[in-house]
Amino acid sequence: MKTQKEYGITVKKGDNLSDWYSQVLLKTDLIDYGPSKGFIVLKPYGYSIWESVRQIIDIRLKESGHQNAYLPTVIPEGLLRKEEDHFSGFNSEVFWITKAGDNVLQEKLALRPTSEAIAYSLFSNWVGSYKDLPLKLNFWNSAMRAEIKSTKPFIRNSEFLWQEGHTVHTNNEEAEAEVRFILDLYEMILTDYLAIPVLKGFKTSKEKFVGAVATSTLEGMMPDGKALQLATSHNLGQNFSVPFEIKFLGNDNLEHFAWQTSWGISWRLIGASIMIHGDDHGLVLPPKIAPIQVVMVPIFKKDQANQNVVPRSMELASELVRAGIKVHVDTRDDFTAGWKYNDWEKKGVPLRINIGPKEILKGELEVVRRDTLQKETILQTSLVKRVKEILKLVHDNLLKNANEILRRSMAHASSFYQLKEMIQKQAGFVSGGWCGDEKCEISIKEETGADIRLLPFEWSKTLDSTMKCVYCGKNARSIPVFARAY
Ligand SMILES: [Zn+2]
Repeated sequence: MKTQKEYGITVKKGDNLSDWYSQVLLKTDLIDYGPSKGFIVLKPYGYSIWESVRQIIDIRLKESGHQNAYLPTVIPEGLLRKEEDHFSGFNSEVFWITKAGDNVLQEKLALRPTSEAIAYSLFSNWVGSYKDLPLKLNFWNSAMRAEIKSTKPFIRNSEFLWQEGHTVHTNNEEAEAEVRFILDLYEMILTDYLAIPVLKGFKTSKEKFVGAVATSTLEGMMPDGKALQLATSHNLGQNFSVPFEIKFLGNDNLEHFAWQTSWGISWRLIGASIMIHGDDHGLVLPPKIAPIQVVMVPIFKKDQANQNVVPRSMELASELVRAGIKVHVDTRDDFTAGWKYNDWEKKGVPLRINIGPKEILKGELEVVRRDTLQKETILQTSLVKRVKEILKLVHDNLLKNANEILRRSMAHASSFYQLKEMIQKQAGFVSGGWCGDEKCEISIKEETGADIRLLPFEWSKTLDSTMKCVYCGKNARSIPVFARAY
């Protein structure tokens, strides 16, 4: 057995976020590293978090008329090259299959970096009339993009789990509405389920998805002041329907090219949630995505006849199960109660219930919140009601703290000097005027390390006519948000 020192988290989050993050992932049994660099393995505890997230998203997508389907992992080179910008944008990170056994393939096969090319080659056959539209499909799969330099579990890997949605519409207005609907859905999932607040807006032309007309994005702020792109939703216009010949016969009896969207959210949101909410003891999981929401620790001595403690714990646990709460009773008899407390704290279970002979006698329970580590005594008779209330309080508190991190990270710069200093000293999101010229965008990135994360939907409206581009001093045309990012 590992010693307590090896077992616990030995790095403080505030001292070294990166080392703390790696330790938390490995020591809470979320992941392991795969045999190939850049690939990670999800262990059962990590995978069950992904399952929770996936279930939440899946239900919402189905409710809004999307259907799940599955596409092959391999894409012939010719298909991937069909939309030129798209191909050149992904080319440097595509894994290629060149042989089948000993035979060299006539045409290389790409391991799916994303599915636009393969999906749209099929959509051209599936769509014939306006009666076939809208087509709203979702794929749960993994995508592969060679990440050679800096990999970070969940944040940047050579293979990642995600969902990618692809829709086809008869007109641009409908496609645009879909893009916004999905972005709002993603925002709701991030805030209501993962307790992650985000900024919402457009990517610049330089940063948008390759092949898209426009990309909308949700950007989160990590505790070290670096931004993290958490979800994107793209209006593809007719950029793909033309080369892929996705045409429909309209009710005007004429052929039209279709309008399309694509969008995705990946397991990256798990990484963000860990970084934002975790503390020096380990994980702090938001209740709605926690594989175990409540852990009950019956307190009994090995070989001692406190035989009513475990059965009573089981009874109480089944009350929680009936109320739809994910509960686990830790009946291991080869660990002390104290050891178990530390173990579940490290694993981030939102609520722990301690129950011993004394509690049983009094009809009480000791409840410990993971986020604040505060203890509270509750009556066994009000167990379900109080547990539900506390789980909600935990979520609200995590979101409040994350909002505070986001709010504190935001600043406005009125000169390049200020922008540079803010980025270097406190990092975070810094807004500033921009003329819209890509040259300024590139120079700012080169000189500060910060790029334009987004052009916020609402902030652009507050542009005043005297505002200048922080870099070149010409009139500003928008107020983007700059940040260094993962
Ligand atoms: Zn400029």
